[in-house]
Amino acid sequence: MTEVVPGIHWLKLPITMAGSNLAHVNVYLVRGDDGYLLVDAGWNTPASFDILQKGLKEIGGDIREISRILVTHVHPDHYGMAGRVKELSGADFYLHEYEKRLIGPRYVTMDELLVQTEHWLGINGVPPEPTADLRDATKDLIKYIVPSYPDTTLRGGETITTGPFTFRVLWTPGHSQGHICLYEAAKKLLLSGDHVLPTITPNIGMHPQSIENPLGKYFDSLKAVKKLDVGLVLPGHEEPFHGLAPRIEEIRQHHEHRNREILKAVAAAPKTAYQVALDVTWGFRGGWRDLHNFHKRMAIFETLAHLELMVANRDVEKAARDGMIYYRQT
Ligand SMILES: [Zn+2]
Ligand SMILES: [Zn+2]
Repeated sequence: MTEVVPGIHWLKLPITMAGSNLAHVNVYLVRGDDGYLLVDAGWNTPASFDILQKGLKEIGGDIREISRILVTHVHPDHYGMAGRVKELSGADFYLHEYEKRLIGPRYVTMDELLVQTEHWLGINGVPPEPTADLRDATKDLIKYIVPSYPDTTLRGGETITTGPFTFRVLWTPGHSQGHICLYEAAKKLLLSGDHVLPTITPNIGMHPQSIENPLGKYFDSLKAVKKLDVGLVLPGHEEPFHGLAPRIEEIRQHHEHRNREILKAVAAAPKTAYQVALDVTWGFRGGWRDLHNFHKRMAIFETLAHLELMVANRDVEKAARDGMIYYRQT
């Protein structure tokens, strides 16, 4: 465990998912007057739990001294173990209201969401044969999650004070609709979750549970965060880093580049999101066929997010034909 800023301890908890380029998720323990604030929780695995417990022991703490848990968004790698830590510590659990809504359908009663996802893939052009595999691509992750609902629901704009820290909750929709960051203005710190990562481009996808135009919202959220006076960024993956504004500019350019590539793909003839996804160079090694189902689905959802942004900007129009949605350049 590293004390990355006096009073903030950084732990890397392992992620072991086939085909994933993420090796770990970062969780942060903030030492306060009334116990620790845990920011993000990792997967619920014996290895994660062990590292958290040992980390706390190293600094003379204990799981029961965690008095608050804040989860930036409910993706399994950030949310999975929150319920278990809450059970053991009695901590208050903080989450954005839009993330709270995702918990039931995604992690408690999945059946309806699976039906919706299958339909979603179908109308976006995925042929029947790979649909079932793509639909079920993340079903297994449920085993890493202890579903738990927040005690305190956030909307953005709240202040969370602990020890010498005063964090402002920033609602940063895009990567997930209720994603939040924590900003400590006096210390110029940003706990960025998956909103901004140092080298990985956060995935922005449009799926059955998405809000409208998630990529457009993501750009707005990037703009809002770019204005802040930030020194050190404590991200949800990879390593803490400096240089928030240039990193945001890189991410923006990456998406602009992909927008142009996708626009070219729908210039000559209308295509479904699936057909477009097959045309895009995804930056993974090997071709489409070598991608894991999880990544294929992510790529289709990301293509959709780009197409919907361009529909909102009137660069692309969409029309339904034979039960499928087709996009073409205007
Ligand atoms: Zn995430
Ligand atoms: Zn993540």
